Amino acid sequence: MRFKSTKGGSEEVDFKEAVIRGQAQNGGLYFPTEIPEISKDIIHNIKNISEQDLAYHAIHHYVDDSIPEVELNKIIEETLAFKTPLIKLDERFHVLELFHGPTLAFKDIGARFMSRCLAYFSKENNNQVTVLVATSGDTGSAVADGFFGVENVEVVILYPSGKVSAVQEKQLTTYGGNVRAIEVMGNFDDCQRLVKQAFSDTRLRETLQLTSANSINIARWLPQQFYYFNALKQWDKKEAPVISVPSGNFGNICAGILAWKSGLPVKHFIAACNVNNVVSEFLSSGNYQPKKAIPTISNAMDVGDPSNFVRIMEIFSNNIPGLKSMLSSFYYTDEDTKSGMREIKKEFNYTAEPHGAIGYMALKDYLKIYPSASGIFLETAHPVKFPDAVEEEIRIPDRLKHIMSLKKNSVKIEPDYAQLRKLLEIRN
Ligand SMILES: *Cc1c(COP(=O)(O)O)cnc(C)c1O
Repeated sequence: MRFKSTKGGSEEVDFKEAVIRGQAQNGGLYFPTEIPEISKDIIHNIKNISEQDLAYHAIHHYVDDSIPEVELNKIIEETLAFKTPLIKLDERFHVLELFHGPTLAFKDIGARFMSRCLAYFSKENNNQVTVLVATSGDTGSAVADGFFGVENVEVVILYPSGKVSAVQEKQLTTYGGNVRAIEVMGNFDDCQRLVKQAFSDTRLRETLQLTSANSINIARWLPQQFYYFNALKQWDKKEAPVISVPSGNFGNICAGILAWKSGLPVKHFIAACNVNNVVSEFLSSGNYQPKKAIPTISNAMDVGDPSNFVRIMEIFSNNIPGLKSMLSSFYYTDEDTKSGMREIKKEFNYTAEPHGAIGYMALKDYLKIYPSASGIFLETAHPVKFPDAVEEEIRIPDRLKHIMSLKKNSVKIEPDYAQLRKLLEIRN
């Protein structure tokens, strides 16, 4: 399988090169030159196929001969080391829990897959790479955990100062070793902009062998299809589900749409957003207008210009009616989010955190319009990651307790590329 740039041009690379480069040379995102079709047999037999084999079917066309089958299966096995259960709340509402990984957010899946691919490639090539990543909270910790101690890989994480929760900050700043945390005096968009600037800095990029671990990187984006397959494996209704995805940078939902495009039965997707509603506005007005990110209690979705939206447009070949027939979007304020969390507790005795609550509300609003449908919302993080927003007392899972007593270790910079560049050069 080859990958091209979403900005056009003649560049075409294989999986390995796309993963190592992170982003296409003309600044676009890598996108497969064709989308493989999963055979109908597999879909019909989904209940009898193991999660591991489903994941292999979902991804092997993309990986192709970049990683041998045995190795790829090992990577998948390590990626799927925790469960993604589908919980039935009632006949119409189901929640897919994606927070059972080591850092308690869905990003563990993509980060574990990517780190193991990169480890395989750098062992093969015996060279050093630097993973540079901007985070609104959960990406950074998932990447830190996935890459911690991986030979030949340096990890640099940029996070917005004061805009991540206490647990998240500890998760970002206490690994040490090959993981460095940089605290940017700005918001997530500033962090993302700095990362993009570093990538367009050809000299730096070559000397450090920079690669990204944001959902821009196909090794983070593509494996996110796994849990959509696993959700359908656990789905016991005849009619395909509506799937509501709490969305910020739109990598997660884009992976779901890709899985659907490959043949996974899904009735409709809903991008569930907070007031950072660029895509909701686009779907109603046809006008894509990036905005400055507004801080909310669902901070992992505070994105004013979602990177992966171009990939969604690619999947639909820029056909807006086609896109609209498969994707809706709703957005909610912090007040809505809080009442959503209370409602889930009251109706279903289920504790959701802000992102999941937004997923729930969007599903509910959609099902009001389509009363015969039923669906799934994704719970993208564990409530303990957002203690200020979740009103009940949540016990920190034992495996996280120790990090709360560790000392934060980060370097502060202004949202200024010259300062970042200096820091990055120190290591070399
Ligand atoms: C990253 C994140 C999101 C948004 O996912 P995207 O792929 O960026 O759309 C939603 N919820 C949580 C908890 C996250 O960490």
